[in-house]
Amino acid sequence: MTLIDGKKTAAEIRLELKGRATAFEEKNGRRIGLAVVCIGDDPASKVYIRNKVRACEEVGIASFVHALPAETTEAEAETLLETLAADGAVDGILLQLPLPAHFDEEKLLAKIPKEKDVDGFSAQNIGEIALHRNGTAACTPRGVMELLRRYHVEICGKHAVVVGRSNIVGRPMALLLLNADATVTVCHSRTQDLKGICAGADILVSAVGKPKLITADMVKEGAVVIDVGMNRDGEGKLCGDVDFESVKEKASLITPVPGGVGPMTVAMLLSNTVDAAERRSK
Ligand code: NDP
Repeated sequence: MTLIDGKKTAAEIRLELKGRATAFEEKNGRRIGLAVVCIGDDPASKVYIRNKVRACEEVGIASFVHALPAETTEAEAETLLETLAADGAVDGILLQLPLPAHFDEEKLLAKIPKEKDVDGFSAQNIGEIALHRNGTAACTPRGVMELLRRYHVEICGKHAVVVGRSNIVGRPMALLLLNADATVTVCHSRTQDLKGICAGADILVSAVGKPKLITADMVKEGAVVIDVGMNRDGEGKLCGDVDFESVKEKASLITPVPGGVGPMTVAMLLSNTVDAAERRSK
């Protein structure tokens, strides 16, 4: 078994991006800019934003954080997003989810122009990916594809099973694997015979949010196992969806949690931002 080291890979990617961000600044006389809009006081969101801002600093991307109170109206949020959409110093806009209950998430996401949607959550970008065109892919599934690429995993013609079908992970993950010529099966909470389907996977990606959902008897000998799940076990320790200790004996390659897919998500946000800036400057 080989461990897929997401932490090391993400650090390598940040270094590559730093070079591109420096070259951009020299050519354009300004730093690449990422605007982060956060509404309300979700404590987890605050931690995520802190991490993203720190990662931006490391790479040389300017971050502009707009922290709005929970009582912000939809009209006020829309106005801010319109201003950022028109702002030449802003290459990417990130709307931190979840939003307070009185917001229509889709309506606000639609205010972010496709070119600045570095999270890849807009209907337009998801549509581009679904049509196998050049859209911006959501960061977590893109991070998984990057890990597969950098660990030389052959995807073409392989049976990939994705467990989970959320709009931010499972669904775009399945589309990206399909675009890379895998034969893709998507499983969800209504799937019958999850075990049998997973056991046929050459590449198994779990994005559910349930500790130990994927056990060794669900994994084919030599399969590549990617664990997107981020959960807390009974002792409060961070863990994924995969029963790592038993599954690692059967997998040829496996991601740990923490240190697997997680660090790649932020690296891909930076990468999407650098891509967006370079596209705009052309
Ligand atoms: P959601 O809750 O939105 O989606 C979970 C999916 O799992 C749904 O499609 C659901 O099916 C499916 N599911 C639930 N129970 C089962 C089951 N018993 N068998 C098969 N499928 C099941 O979660 P997210 O997609 O947002 O996140 C998934 C996990 O990934 C979470 O642990 C989250 O914390 C983690 N995550 C990690 C990231 C990272 O950077 N590493 C980034 C984003 C998420 P149905 O559609 O039928 O309800």
